[in-house]
Amino acid sequence: MTTLLLHHAAFLEHLTPVGHPERPDRLRALHSALDHADFAALSREEAPLAEVESATATHTPAYVEAIRQAIPDEGFTRIDADTTASPGSWEAALRAIGAGMRAVDAVATGQAANAFGAVRPPGHHAEEATAMGFCLFNSIAIAARHAQSKHGMERAAIVDWDVHHGNGTQDIFWSDPSVLYASTHQMPLFPGTGAASETGVGNIFNAPLSPGDGSEEFRAAFEDRILPAVSNFKPDIILISAGFDAHFRDPLAQINLNEADFAWATARLMDIADKFCAGRVVSLLEGGYDLKGLAASSAAHIRQLMTA
Ligand SMILES: [Zn+2]
Repeated sequence: MTTLLLHHAAFLEHLTPVGHPERPDRLRALHSALDHADFAALSREEAPLAEVESATATHTPAYVEAIRQAIPDEGFTRIDADTTASPGSWEAALRAIGAGMRAVDAVATGQAANAFGAVRPPGHHAEEATAMGFCLFNSIAIAARHAQSKHGMERAAIVDWDVHHGNGTQDIFWSDPSVLYASTHQMPLFPGTGAASETGVGNIFNAPLSPGDGSEEFRAAFEDRILPAVSNFKPDIILISAGFDAHFRDPLAQINLNEADFAWATARLMDIADKFCAGRVVSLLEGGYDLKGLAASSAAHIRQLMTA
């Protein structure tokens, strides 16, 4: 069984102002790392363009239309202090959704053991009706809904190890016991949510880390809180919000993980997926702003997925 990599040149056409950390070079660095014999066995596909209506699985129609209207003919639209759109952003955002949905389809039908979407823009900060934190649409949340509605997977677990808390994903599934959301992230840090006391309807598991924490604290959070929660949930699919900005090189946070930690976390989640859901794991890129840290970490993550 193969690992599917979803990619598309359109992800490079979501442009951000000079100096913005969420930039097309991130994906160029990631793909350079994958241009290696280790990754020859990857199955590679272009991410399909999702229907606009797909976004309404987790966002209001009015919000989806407002984003469409905000796309400029040239230059940039500033949607909030951090979040901008360029002429290519609409296609990129719809293909990021399409990557998640196609990844779910591939693992649901047995075409792939697991799948990774090398997408931009990221999604986990996007709430039902609010763009923020470089995110327009919440692609991982839409993928979870797609697994449920299209493939009858009743219980979707989303694990988010991006260094920022996925407030959008938490918001969308806050009162939905059919989706588990489990996150490690730095606190205090943007967006400010993610306290352990935020538990939804018993489906939200936050394991905040402190600035300066590293491998030991991250792995302990996984062992003590994240992995037991996911196991007890008995998921039909595991989705990963795979941000790599908890890497020690990353300029936006102060957590000191290395690429081996991401491979380790991947392996632990694959173990649970093997036990409960035939190994079905779908992973989408979120953050990661140091090009070397991002490239090495995503390569380690994908190399681990390919052991399935
Ligand atoms: Zn992040």
